[in-house]
Amino acid sequence: MKADVFIGGGGIGGLTLALKLVRRGIVVVLAERMAMKAPTYKGELLQPKSMQIFDKLGLYEKIRSHSNEINVLDMLELSSSLQVKDRAFMDYSVLPGKYNAAYMMHHEELKSVILNTACEFENFHYLIGTVCKGYGENTALLQKGTEKFEVEAKFFFGAEGRSSVTRKAIEIEVKQTTYNHHFLTVTFPRAEDFTDGKIISTYNRFLGLFPLPDNQVRSVYLIPPGDYKQLKEKPISHFHKLYTDLAPAVDGYVQQLTDWKKIQLMIPVMYHANSYVKSNKAIIGDACHAVHPMAGEGMNMAIQDADILGELTADMFEQDKKDSTNLTWYERVRYKRADHVIQLSHLAALAYSFPFKPVSYLRQRTFDRLEEDRILHFKQMLNVSGLGMWKENVHDRFIQGGIMPVRMKDLTKDTKKLKYYTSDEDYPWKTEGLK
Ligand SMILES: Cc1cc2nc3c(=O)[nH]c(=O)nc-3n(C[C@H](O)[C@H](O)[C@H](O)COP(=O)(O)OP(=O)(O)OC[C@H]3O[C@@H](n4cnc5c(N)ncnc54)[C@H](O)[C@@H]3O)c2cc1C
Repeated sequence: MKADVFIGGGGIGGLTLALKLVRRGIVVVLAERMAMKAPTYKGELLQPKSMQIFDKLGLYEKIRSHSNEINVLDMLELSSSLQVKDRAFMDYSVLPGKYNAAYMMHHEELKSVILNTACEFENFHYLIGTVCKGYGENTALLQKGTEKFEVEAKFFFGAEGRSSVTRKAIEIEVKQTTYNHHFLTVTFPRAEDFTDGKIISTYNRFLGLFPLPDNQVRSVYLIPPGDYKQLKEKPISHFHKLYTDLAPAVDGYVQQLTDWKKIQLMIPVMYHANSYVKSNKAIIGDACHAVHPMAGEGMNMAIQDADILGELTADMFEQDKKDSTNLTWYERVRYKRADHVIQLSHLAALAYSFPFKPVSYLRQRTFDRLEEDRILHFKQMLNVSGLGMWKENVHDRFIQGGIMPVRMKDLTKDTKKLKYYTSDEDYPWKTEGLK
C-alpha cells in the first residue's frame, strides 16, 4: 500500500490532520488501533482557536449544532460551611470577533463528525482496528488481527496519544510530571437552563461542571491519589453528596448515576517532548505534550498542532518542495505556544492543589483581580482561547497580588485584535519560503 502521508492514530489530532490533508488532495492512510468507540472520557471543551480551525475546514456550523455553547465560567469559592464566599467570572465575550465562546461536544461525536467528513474524499484511506507497530525504511509496519502489512509513504506522522510508537521510533523521550491529586470524572443529566461552566471550590475541595448538549454535564471532582479504590467501596449516595454539597444545582440529577461503574479515575500528568520532528517523521497532540486538564486545553493543542502541520505538509506537496527539513517549521510555530499553554494549565492546577485556607484566600483574590482588571481578564481569556499569546508581566503579577491597583481602562477591540495570531505567524513559511 502506498500513500503520500501515513498517520498513526485516529484520535482528534490524527483525524483533524487527515482532514486538512485530504481536502488539499494529499493521499493519506490513517491507522487506528481501536475497532470501536473508546469507552473512556477524554477532552470535550473546544476553545475559540479550535473553532476557527474547524471553520476553515467547513465544520463550524455542524460542530455548533452538536455542542453546548459556553460563554462564561462561573468561579465560586465556598466557605467551610459551604456558603458562597466569593464569585468571579471568566468571560469569553471579552474576545472580539466571531470566535468568542467555547463549545462542549461529546468527544466521540466530534471524532465521528471529522472522520465522516474525511471519508467523503477518495484519497483518504482509514484502516480501523489496525495497529502501527513501528517503522521500516520509509514504511509503517501495521497489524490488523494476525495480518501484518506495510504502508509506504513520503511522511509519517504520529498521533497515537500518550503511548506513541512514532515518538519511540524517533527516540524522543518525555519526562512525566505527576500531581498531588487525581480526579473522578463522569457525565450525567443536568437542568436545561444550566448551560455555562462552573468551577466550585472550598479550601480543600474542587468540582468542575461543564455542560454538554442533550442536557448532560461533564464533571471532574478532585480527590487525593489512592482514594478512588476506597471511595468505590462506599454507597453511591456518598458520591452524590460530594456533588450536591458543593453544587445544589445538580441535586436531583447526579442521583441518576446509580453505580460507580460509569465514574472514572483521571490521573493528570504533564510532559513536553524536547522535539517534535526527526527526518520525515513528526508527532502531534498527546504524543508530544500532555497538560493538566484544569484549563481544558489537551484536545485543543492536538487540533492546533494538526492545523499547522497539515497546512505545512499540504503546501510542501502543492509546491513540490518535499525536503523533510521543512517540517521544522511546524515545531518552530507550535513549540513555544504549547509550552506556554502547558505552563498556564500547570499554574491553574497549582491554584487548586494545596488544601490550605491561605491558598484559598490567595486564589480568591487572584481571580477577583483577574476579573476586575480589564487587561488581565483579556490576557487570561486570550491565552486560554489559543487565538493569541500575551504573557503576564511583573506589573500584572503585582496587580494580582494586590500590590498595585487594578486598571479600569479597557483595550479597544482593534488593540485586542492586534494580539491575535496573524496568518503570517501561524504559517510563516508561506512568506519566508520552503526548501
Ligand atoms: C482518560 C483521559 C481523560 C482526559 N480528559 C480530558 C479533559 O477532561 N479535558 C482535556 O482538555 N483533556 C483531557 N484529556 C486529554 C485529551 O483528551 C487529549 O489531549 C486529546 O484527546 C489528545 O488527542 P490526540 O489525538 O493527540 O490523542 P488521543 O485522543 O489519545 O488519540 C490517540 C489515538 O491513537 C490510537 N492509537 C494509539 N496507539 C496506536 C497505534 N500504535 N496504532 C494505531 N493507533 C493507535 C488510539 O487508539 C487513539 O484513538 C484526557 C485524556 C485522557 C487519556
